[in-house]
Amino acid sequence: MHLHLRDGEMLRTVAPLSAHTFSGAIIMPNLLPPVTDAEILRAYRRRILDAVGGENFTPYMTLFFKPEYDREFLLPLRDEITAIKLYPAGITTNSEGGVSGFDVEELRPALSAMSELGIPLCIHGETGGFVMDREKEFVPVYETLATAFPDLKIIMEHITTAESVAALDRHENLYATITLHHLLITLDDVAGGLLRPHLFCKPIAKRPEDREALLRVALEAHPKVMFGSDSAPHPRHAKEAPGCAAGVFTAPIALPALAELFERHGRLENLQAFLGDNARRIYGVTPPDKKVRLVKEPMRVPEKYGDVVPMMAGEEIGWSVAEIE
Ligand SMILES: [Zn+2]
Repeated sequence: MHLHLRDGEMLRTVAPLSAHTFSGAIIMPNLLPPVTDAEILRAYRRRILDAVGGENFTPYMTLFFKPEYDREFLLPLRDEITAIKLYPAGITTNSEGGVSGFDVEELRPALSAMSELGIPLCIHGETGGFVMDREKEFVPVYETLATAFPDLKIIMEHITTAESVAALDRHENLYATITLHHLLITLDDVAGGLLRPHLFCKPIAKRPEDREALLRVALEAHPKVMFGSDSAPHPRHAKEAPGCAAGVFTAPIALPALAELFERHGRLENLQAFLGDNARRIYGVTPPDKKVRLVKEPMRVPEKYGDVVPMMAGEEIGWSVAEIE
């Protein structure tokens, strides 16, 4: 429920990998230029469908939030978008055109229109503060927006902290996505020993107690929590560089790695709800039927897919995809 497919050659490399094992995904709009109007949106959707080839896969499209959006602009697009994604300006890859203030009155016209039209708002919730505190500092913004727009579904994207988990239960209209990597790693795995650029992402992985809080709600398939891989490919030269791009590429390993994680905690029965059922209900979407059979047989993760190094490259996962119908 949170996927970066990029564009051009990268799109053609990574889209089939997601479309093979997933039947749908919420597609992030942070291209250059960002997806901000009907023409860009439709053309991008066509390029995605081209790239996935014959796979049975629905790209759920999103717009890049602009405070200028109003009812007149959004109404004709209602059936073509599943959500709108809001980025604070400059916070992550290609987010320079994002929002630089969170004044409720300034955002009111756009958010009221979304609320009225039933368009969920997805937010990358980080401030410009110290990197470990950015998400925690953003929680009051989530709460202000949730209170000011009680009928607007607000998705706290890729949450990484115990504070965000706690906020979920304080507001009926707050939901969250959680990534695979934030369930598996802490900052120690990224920078505690030798620096591991392929685990570097935004929001950065946090403390063990934060991971515990995420694991608790993921493993119980908390009804307001959805899997969102935030699979975010970059070419190898952009990751293994003096200035490492943020993003972890997990699309091809997500299902086996989640199966292994849920089994290790004795909660396999909740995997389906975390992966798909909660999202179907929260977003009100019906992706095409696809049955994936996972088996407890080891998978050796490839060193790379095209020019992209996946998480756990070269390692073994205890589960694998056996069959897809
Ligand atoms: Zn993302």
